[in-house]
Amino acid sequence: MAVNLLDFDLEGLTAFCETLGERRFRAVQLFRWIHQKGESDFEQMSDLAKSLRGKLAGAAVVQGLPLISEHVSADGTTKWLFDVGAGNAVETVYIPEADRGTLCVSSQAGCAVGCRFCSTGHQGFSRNLSTGEIVAQLWFAEHRLRPASGERVIDNVVMMGMGEPLQNYGALVPALRTMLDDHGYGLSRRRVTVSTSGMVGKIDQLREDCPVALAVSLHAPNDALRDHLVPLNRKDGIDALLDACVRYLERAPRDFVTFEYCMLDGVNDSTEHARELVRLVKGRVPCKFNLIPFNPFPASGLKRSPRERVMAFGDVLLQAGIVTTIRRTRGDDIDAACGQLAGEVQDRTNARERLQQRREAIPIVPIVENRP
Ligand code: SAH
Ligand code: SF4
Repeated sequence: MAVNLLDFDLEGLTAFCETLGERRFRAVQLFRWIHQKGESDFEQMSDLAKSLRGKLAGAAVVQGLPLISEHVSADGTTKWLFDVGAGNAVETVYIPEADRGTLCVSSQAGCAVGCRFCSTGHQGFSRNLSTGEIVAQLWFAEHRLRPASGERVIDNVVMMGMGEPLQNYGALVPALRTMLDDHGYGLSRRRVTVSTSGMVGKIDQLREDCPVALAVSLHAPNDALRDHLVPLNRKDGIDALLDACVRYLERAPRDFVTFEYCMLDGVNDSTEHARELVRLVKGRVPCKFNLIPFNPFPASGLKRSPRERVMAFGDVLLQAGIVTTIRRTRGDDIDAACGQLAGEVQDRTNARERLQQRREAIPIVPIVENRP
């Protein structure tokens, strides 16, 4: 079977080219054609030797993900649904802003962490995406949206789509490297964010292998509540998680961790919870908070906190000197969302039917970060 070149970071592509008897600079040229120009047809790669083009045509492909649908919101937010086989689909969302373009990327079909408030978690885990499937989301979006003038469109990537990126670590790291590579997308480490529900060991590993900006989905100020909302917390607990955050910051491109906090009516949103959070993190972890209005879905049995409660909660953090933002909604008219997206469990029967249903009903209200 032909190798998909989207699966390789530059180092991997170099090794692959060596198996074809080609030197590193050829791999660089090829990498640039694929990621910078969006080219998938080897014959169009005009400065590659004809003999190499011939070898590539026999051994490799540049294969994106089959697109199921594209929705563009009135505010320019664009949502794509991609088919990843066996009845599974993943979503990618582009969020344009005045000074930048952000892409929200998925790392898994489904998710095994099973957070109470997350529709992806409720669907269960289907499978990890490959490096190529993660990169394909950026490859597609960047080249789909790039204007004729050739200016880059996406300068910010957040791993906040479907899935827990650190549970797909092996595929994630080469994908991040391709995003960062000057011969690839050339994104700044500060503008590639891994969002995690808090896998302590993997946070330490990421710190060594590929430190990018880190967002941690905290959602609770104590273990009893976090164990309930984010079941993975039972393994290491909040203390160990915060220690890992502090260690991470020694190598991180930013000098703070972003704590995400999904505001759930009557569950984790009182001012007492906010004070408990302050006691937990103040003077211990340099951080910012991002309060996320919960996007309800029927099976969750949870409700979004009223606006006033979110404001009161945010005030407690702000009064304590912690920078806090509240996410605002974008793309309401197309049901676009970063954070709790489409996907399907492994049932292989009626795959076509279920994809059709998904096309018709993606149940999420959109959220994007509101910057101060
Ligand atoms: N698995 C990773 C990244 C994907 S989820 C993580 O948990 O961090 C991205 C963000 O969306 C997380 O902060 C998550 O808590 C949030 N999220 C999940 N479900 C949500 C919902 N129903 N409403 C609002 N935010 C949600
Ligand atoms: Fe998985 Fe993140 Fe959803 Fe939790 S919030 S179930 S970790 S995708």
